[in-house]
Amino acid sequence: MSFSKLGLSQPIVSAVTELGYQHPTAIQEKAIPVILRGENLLATAQTGTGKTASFLLPLMEMLSQGETRRKKRVRALVLAPTRELAAQVEKNANQYGKKTSLKTLAMYGGTSSASQKQSLIEGVDILVATPGRLLDMMSQRAVHFDELECLVLDEADRMLDMGFIEDINKIIERLPAERQNLLFSATLSDKVRFLAKTAVPNPVEISS
Ligand code: AMP
Repeated sequence: MSFSKLGLSQPIVSAVTELGYQHPTAIQEKAIPVILRGENLLATAQTGTGKTASFLLPLMEMLSQGETRRKKRVRALVLAPTRELAAQVEKNANQYGKKTSLKTLAMYGGTSSASQKQSLIEGVDILVATPGRLLDMMSQRAVHFDELECLVLDEADRMLDMGFIEDINKIIERLPAERQNLLFSATLSDKVRFLAKTAVPNPVEISS
């Protein structure tokens, strides 16, 4: 299987080829077509399987085909449990998107909020954030989700283990009802399934 047969176009295929990715991994083969169709997805995948690219590549494909970003707006939100993971997702997005005009911003405790606010004012395509930090910025009215197209919950089981459920619910309440939802988790515990029921209705289920 090739990345282009999965439905990805040249700027993204060429960026991953330059990174040395020769073939999609199993989770990428399963996830990419589902996400490109606009469906909700519930994916069981461990770190190391290529799960980050399995959502970033189709997300970036859709965002680069669609409308352009607007000031003060966020088009896709990735929630991640830790600053390390958020930084890693941002780094990957910058690598995969280097031949597109997409803009990614990571927001987590310890980074300067003045420069983040400036980036938000200019508009971002993909915001990667830890839940606590994001709520903080939302309460300062520094971020607007009225045009959000897609929500990704990355490592959902870890976010729940870290006690983020209330924060996640508060964030989701403020998102437009009509949006695509993707949930990735190493395990599908009852807690994860309960979150998925409301956050990711009628998903296609896959595992790596
Ligand atoms: P992840 O599971 O997202 O933590 O990714 C694990 C590692 O695999 C990362 O270093 C990625 O850069 C790398 N990776 C992701 N997809 C591929 C691929 N299709 N071919 C080779 N390496 C990949």
